[in-house]
Amino acid sequence: MLRPTIRLGRIAGVEVGVHWSLLVIGALLASSLAGGLLPALVPDAGGSYWAAAVLATGLFFASILGHELAHALVALRRGQRVEGITLWLMGGVARLRDEARDARSELLVALAGPGASVGIGVAFLALGALAGAALPSGSLLPAVASYVGAVNLLLAAFNLLPGAPLDGGRVLAGLLWWWHGDRRRAQIAAARAGRAVGALLVAVPVVQLLAGGGLNPWLALVGWFVIDASRAEEAQARVARRMDGLRIGDLLPRPQPTAPAWVTVEALHAAHPHDATVVLTDFAGAPAAVVAVPVPGPVPPWARARDVAVPLAALAVLAPDAPAVAALHEGVPVLVVDGDGRVLGAVGAAELRRAGVPGPGPLAGAPG
Ligand SMILES: [Zn+2]
Repeated sequence: MLRPTIRLGRIAGVEVGVHWSLLVIGALLASSLAGGLLPALVPDAGGSYWAAAVLATGLFFASILGHELAHALVALRRGQRVEGITLWLMGGVARLRDEARDARSELLVALAGPGASVGIGVAFLALGALAGAALPSGSLLPAVASYVGAVNLLLAAFNLLPGAPLDGGRVLAGLLWWWHGDRRRAQIAAARAGRAVGALLVAVPVVQLLAGGGLNPWLALVGWFVIDASRAEEAQARVARRMDGLRIGDLLPRPQPTAPAWVTVEALHAAHPHDATVVLTDFAGAPAAVVAVPVPGPVPPWARARDVAVPLAALAVLAPDAPAVAALHEGVPVLVVDGDGRVLGAVGAAELRRAGVPGPGPLAGAPG
């Protein structure tokens, strides 16, 4: 998952961060604005092209944040938890912890972002027109406002291309889900449409190049990203379909493998020769930590099991009757605890594999 490099803080309760790759795009965008577009729009400017370019870039990034915040706030209202927003190379991503509860939520969350972009775009275009009428010619501010307005409308249009992981793909998934009632079938269809959209995005600059036009690697890169992400989404939807109808309790091994926390990794492997998620117990016999067996990575055989284990406090806790797919959202291993606070066991990668999940990865409804 995309983790922010710098945390900016919280807006309306949503954690906002920036990935370092955004700085690369910021520098490219500002330099192309200062060195090309702005001098072309306003040849005899009364101010600095660079200052205007930096302002336009900042406003553009703020608009992307507005787009993602709209996704996040609607998701929160529809009962989905939001991990945070990260701005990065490809724009922004709102990381949602839960899947939409119903087709209506899926649709509303997906439409919120492009809706915000259209609103911001129209507002800046109007501002640009007003500033153009009010300010003396040679002022860069009208050009900056019109640029930010136009770019927001473009952003909305691009994001509405009908293929997951783009917002338009989620709209498509929501509509199909509403139409035939099968969420996974809808998601798989939207992901396949995403592959077609991605292929089209890659094809456009290739055709341009063959026709003697300039090289436009950016669109191809975005297309490649869309193809890659849509493949991952289709795989996730297939996995989720396999788990639909299962409860976390169904995945629990019976009996739950346990071991004392102080045994060596060598002894742990000897006691549990097969893939398992082992609950480690303290001297009083109470659960203290969870470890995947075989222990991944280079670990000396004399290391203590507790030193390579995840302490209970660091684990997500699920009730046995929670849907099994929740284990994918929380990230394994998860601790299974009943209503009285009793630890029933742990579900890890081994239990997911046994349930037919190939390689557990994060499963997030994350609109771009
Ligand atoms: Zn979006």
